[in-house]
Amino acid sequence: MADNADRAAEQQGVIENALLLHRPRPPRRQVSGNDCLACGKEIPAQRLAVLPNACLCVACQEDAERTMGQ
Ligand SMILES: [Zn+2]
Repeated sequence: MADNADRAAEQQGVIENALLLHRPRPPRRQVSGNDCLACGKEIPAQRLAVLPNACLCVACQEDAERTMGQ
């Protein structure tokens, strides 16, 4: 009986791992007002003029770059 229980638990773990691996990424947010994805503040128009695809405000972008640089 113990073997069956172990096997069931093992299968459950495999299924959960598969679900995690195949979980779709959240869609990239498309909004008319360009808000920072990290803090929700509006991204300044000057920044969007330089970086039309910017999805982070200056502060959060700097944070992200600092984090990635480590
Ligand atoms: Zn931000």
